Amino acid sequence: MANHPAAVKRRKLCEGTDVCITARSRSYGSDDDIAIGPGRSIGSSQIITSHDEMRIIPVLPDHVSAPVSLVSVYAAAILDKKNTSTLLRQLSDVHPLDGFSHIKRVRKQTLKNGSYEKAELQIILCETSKVTLPITDEVSVSMILNDDIDRDLLGEPFLAYIPSAPPQTKAQYEEASQHWPTAYHEDKELSRLISGEHFSALDRKNVHTNILKAIRKAEEAKVNGKAAIGALIVDPKSDTTLGMTSSVPGIGENSLQHAVMKCIDLVAHSQGGGAWSICPESCYESVNGECSTDETPYLCTGFDLYITQEPCVMCAMALVHSRIRRVFYIDSHPDGALGSRYKLHAESSLNHRYQAFKVVDLCSAEQQLDHR
Ligand SMILES: [Zn+2]
Repeated sequence: MANHPAAVKRRKLCEGTDVCITARSRSYGSDDDIAIGPGRSIGSSQIITSHDEMRIIPVLPDHVSAPVSLVSVYAAAILDKKNTSTLLRQLSDVHPLDGFSHIKRVRKQTLKNGSYEKAELQIILCETSKVTLPITDEVSVSMILNDDIDRDLLGEPFLAYIPSAPPQTKAQYEEASQHWPTAYHEDKELSRLISGEHFSALDRKNVHTNILKAIRKAEEAKVNGKAAIGALIVDPKSDTTLGMTSSVPGIGENSLQHAVMKCIDLVAHSQGGGAWSICPESCYESVNGECSTDETPYLCTGFDLYITQEPCVMCAMALVHSRIRRVFYIDSHPDGALGSRYKLHAESSLNHRYQAFKVVDLCSAEQQLDHR
């Protein structure tokens, strides 16, 4: 889809149809009174205040959200702590812990026996996978280590379990540290995402307002009571809606025209491209002026998608290709590609990744909507 400079002339909106809006026109509809189906409306005061209870939950990659995975190692007590550096050097030469730079090889343990307490240092000898022995405590130091190491400086070996990867979150760090001392370098942006501090009050208001627009679009598009999906793409810098559309699963001549695909195409139209004639011709902004790629970003670069249902694989990949920045959705879907079946937005092998959020606990007025 070609990138042409979007003309900045405001155009007439097509109420009740797919809409394609130029980069400098304001958001679709009025925030003062957004009608939600026949006889229902949400006033501006509710829209401004009702996002307080809304939660914006990040859909994180598995390596961030999954429980800590462990690998087994042999470890032993250091009989005299004066020999710690000697043992560390010898073991690092013979059995380096490659890939475990997050692990502290020596730990201090307090052993209790009734009221008696004794502190000792323990050291990781090697991964159990590095030696051909049964994975059990019933092994001796001489079975695990050769005589390049001063084995008589060590106590009886035992099995221990250490985290296989560096912790990504504070929760993973706390879990990992229960098994073996582990280094943790906090990703502050990730911490803010998890804690909910990532979004300012204004951000939350904008998310709330835009997700309401998706709900309204879905409500408008119902066919004989059959649920529809509503979607819009927004430039968050100017809070401008660039395209808004809907689809009803299983209805329509073109099976590729899911709400996301149509929405991306509408954005492409606003940039002088586009593959489909989704709207009447008059719906699209006329494009004037010389072709220039300086002012227009590639398709959806920096833009956000709001949608009532988790996108499918096809749509999630289209969002990769179009360089979307963030996706906010309400309902999960068993075959969804942003958290339910896959997490394509976080797939490290793809050349673009984006953030995905599930929006829950919308205020009671929205929860009454039968958009599902
Ligand atoms: Zn889809």
